[in-house]
Amino acid sequence: MAKRDYYEVLGVDRNAGQQEIKSAYRRLAIKYHPDKNAGNKVAEEKFKEAAEAYTVLSDREKRARYDRFGHAGVSPGVGGFEGFDPDIFADFSDILGDFFGFGDFFGGSRRRANQPQRGADLRYDLKINFEEAVFGVKTKIKIPRQENCKSCGGSGADRRQGLAMCPSCRGRGSVRYQQGFFTISRTCSNCRGAGQIIKNPCPECRGHGLVRRERVLEIKIPAGVDDSSRLRITGEGEGGVKGGPPGDLYVVISVNEHPFFAREANHIYCEVPINFAQAALGDEIAVPTLEGREKIKIPAGTQSETIFRLKGRGVVNLNGRAKGDQLVRVRVVTPTNLTKEQRELFKRLAAISGEAQEPRNLFEKVREALS
Ligand SMILES: [Zn+2]
Ligand SMILES: [Zn+2]
Repeated sequence: MAKRDYYEVLGVDRNAGQQEIKSAYRRLAIKYHPDKNAGNKVAEEKFKEAAEAYTVLSDREKRARYDRFGHAGVSPGVGGFEGFDPDIFADFSDILGDFFGFGDFFGGSRRRANQPQRGADLRYDLKINFEEAVFGVKTKIKIPRQENCKSCGGSGADRRQGLAMCPSCRGRGSVRYQQGFFTISRTCSNCRGAGQIIKNPCPECRGHGLVRRERVLEIKIPAGVDDSSRLRITGEGEGGVKGGPPGDLYVVISVNEHPFFAREANHIYCEVPINFAQAALGDEIAVPTLEGREKIKIPAGTQSETIFRLKGRGVVNLNGRAKGDQLVRVRVVTPTNLTKEQRELFKRLAAISGEAQEPRNLFEKVREALS
């Protein structure tokens, strides 16, 4: 069977640089690696073919010979090259080393366990009052979390003679084994690839590399947060493992109710009682807002439930630009416990307005209908 062109095998241009050749090979090696294609002969051939092509093209001298003479230039017996070099597999962990995300390639979590790992995210539920949500607030919160152990720098080993060479891999971090035709290099499971094991664990963290601490953080709640707003505070979650970055802290806000104001999105709602005379004759009343009292004009003949809008007296947007309004609903209150004078006046009012008789008649009709 005719051998395929090495450049074609790797799918690269004849002028491809070393980096390009390496990543092309890495792609193929991952795809066709025997660990992932057990018993698949085609994959095994492809894997072998790619490894062979890489062996030649990654070596400046071999590549030059190949470019000049083709396969004949790098065949066994020519210029001392012994054909396919099985030691290519020894370089595997080197080539694939930066593949953190490639989980199960080297036995998955065992390998990853020794890689830097990002710390977990934390959630903190914070109750604030209505005004704090509207105007923002600086507050201190106490969070218990795992932090990097200062005593051992997160390694988990005692600073003095804490580490010893791993006896399983003799410090290499990987062990090789034969699988049929291939020599496969695997991460040492005893030391998880570190090449060293903890002989004497750090007394502070008992070998975990992390210690539990209660940390007081000062956080700034921005103006405009609302009930169930979620704030992310980068890097304030649990500490990372083996030098990995820390997780984030999520502060979930819940806002206490206000006795007078209600809020929907950026608008503030409130209800103000006015009396009959104010509704009928009109008046100017002072209404509480979040920023002090403000006057609104009640025009003559205002009905109950009429809504007045105070523009820009609501809550500022979280982005700090737009602002909501305050909506004031007036409720006309029917007077009770009338004084003698008030009663007389209402009677006179009733006599001259006529309309007031209408509802009473209506009530009588209802009563008749029910009896
Ligand atoms: Zn420690
Ligand atoms: Zn080991």
